[in-house]
Amino acid sequence: MWKKQNKTTTSAAQITKAYAGILILITLLMSSSIITVVGYRLVANKHAEAQSLMRVLKDSMVGDEPDWVRWRRESTLDTSNTFVRVATNSTDQAAKISYSPRTKAFLNEKFRSWSLIKDVQYRSEQGFYYHIVAHGRLSQGANKGSAVKYEIWLSLNNVVRLFKIILETIGLIVIFSFLIGLWFIARLARRLNQPLVDLTTATHKINNAENITHHESLPISSDPQEVHDLSIEFNRLLRSLNNQVLREHQFVADASHELRTPLAGVRGHINLIRRHGQEHRDIVPTSLDYIDAESLRMQRLIESLLRLSRMDHVDLALTYFNLSDLLDKIITRYQQQIPQQLVRDQLSDTRVYANQDSVEQIITALLDNAHKYSPAESTITFEVANAGDCIQLKVLDQGIGISDQDKPHVFDRFYRADQSRSQKIVGSGLGLAIAARLVDLNHGQITVQDNIPYGSCFIVSLNKTKP
Ligand code: ADP
Repeated sequence: MWKKQNKTTTSAAQITKAYAGILILITLLMSSSIITVVGYRLVANKHAEAQSLMRVLKDSMVGDEPDWVRWRRESTLDTSNTFVRVATNSTDQAAKISYSPRTKAFLNEKFRSWSLIKDVQYRSEQGFYYHIVAHGRLSQGANKGSAVKYEIWLSLNNVVRLFKIILETIGLIVIFSFLIGLWFIARLARRLNQPLVDLTTATHKINNAENITHHESLPISSDPQEVHDLSIEFNRLLRSLNNQVLREHQFVADASHELRTPLAGVRGHINLIRRHGQEHRDIVPTSLDYIDAESLRMQRLIESLLRLSRMDHVDLALTYFNLSDLLDKIITRYQQQIPQQLVRDQLSDTRVYANQDSVEQIITALLDNAHKYSPAESTITFEVANAGDCIQLKVLDQGIGISDQDKPHVFDRFYRADQSRSQKIVGSGLGLAIAARLVDLNHGQITVQDNIPYGSCFIVSLNKTKP
């Protein structure tokens, strides 16, 4: 099936394109305004010159004809390239036309003029001319009072030449700055983009690596700040995902290991019954008891594992409740089931912000352990105390205690201290891992200490208010 391909452009190309657009716009605006202002000033100057020439011309009139020598002398401007025609029209005579030197020849040539700039005329060989016309009456001589038409053609060639030079200079500067700017911006954009390209390359490499170790990280560029921050955040995400994968690998390995031993025992007993069950009927009930006990243990283990794995993806609903009330409920219920004496100190305001069901599970797990690892005639004490923003619950027993080597590991999955194994106390090593995860979900903390003079002390801190 035909699929539309999305054409993507790099940000470096986009920046360069945008810059080129802006540069062209600025250049056009700047050049057109310079050209307009300079052009206007030059034409205005020419107009003023023409007016001054016209004044001198009128003053140089002797009778019905200008005194050309005087006109040239009194003109402050170069008149060599300026042409004049004066036409007097007395009532009784035909019009008399006087020309300044070379004007006749000049006028014989055809010329073009534009209506937009009506005073400017173009002559193919001679270039641009400014044409000015004035009307008056003779103030002296025989034909005094007759109408006079004065016409001056002023060369614009030097203005046009200057204008051409200005245009060429602007053009050169524009092309030069455009090329330099384009090269510079393309380089800058590429340099700014390079860390992103490196990041993409490193990510691509990790994605396509044959053996992923789950310890990979991306290169952190020091510059620019945004890419630096992005790579740090990427690495944090990668580390957390890697840790999760590693934890899951470890979890599967530990679970298989824990299940392998009881399963081997179960299979051993099944084989025993198969081979010798007929001749030695007395072994059957013992083996069945073993299979029953081990399968029950495996069932519990699997249930705990499932609870733990489900807890990786939950968010608990937290509310305010009274921890002392909950403790009373648990003590009343458990006191009948265990031989140890349950004691608790009183504290009136023990409102916490947590999930009541999960806090009940945490306390039950700690109580269960205190019961398992303490002599029957001992006491288990619950202490509830205020600790700044938290309420601290201590569960103290007088049992076998936990060594300093074991303390950092008791919250790990499947961890069991040698002492509890050697004393053949039933357990999976998952109780405290589940409790610690639940404490985490309640945004609390759990630690373990020695109880003085003997036994263990588990401390759970829960928030009094919304964190
Ligand atoms: P288990 O099912 O083995 O009790 P837990 O995760 O509850 O697993 O506890 C982990 C280990 O921590 C136990 O095997 C035991 O060695 C130690 N432990 C936990 N609670 C106590 C306690 N109250 N007294 C002594 N040791 C304890």
